[in-house]
Amino acid sequence: MSEDIAKKSALLLKEGAIMLPETCPICGSPLFKLKDGRIVCPIHGEIRKLKKKMEGKEEKLEEVIEDVIDALKDKLKLIIPKIEAGRKAEAEEIYTWLKALETAINVKKNLKT
Ligand SMILES: [Zn+2]
Repeated sequence: MSEDIAKKSALLLKEGAIMLPETCPICGSPLFKLKDGRIVCPIHGEIRKLKKKMEGKEEKLEEVIEDVIDALKDKLKLIIPKIEAGRKAEAEEIYTWLKALETAINVKKNLKT
């Protein structure tokens, strides 16, 4: 756990949040349940998909795909700083995530037709 995550986690616990056994699907940090019932990642904030899952609500495939697209967009945002100084490994990483995003967008399109 990085220092930054540890600091934010400590702050959440101080505010009365509870650490959950689940981890963030984007960064793998432990998730926290706030007093108001929201599930948050110390880095990414509120996690919509997991909240619905924990409430036991059924999710439509389209909503799941939308969550996947949101998560992939967040992932790409994290990669942006790596582009400038990046080499082949970074380029491949970006390509992989872009391909995943493209696939998710196509799946979403196909669901609508
Ligand atoms: Zn996260």
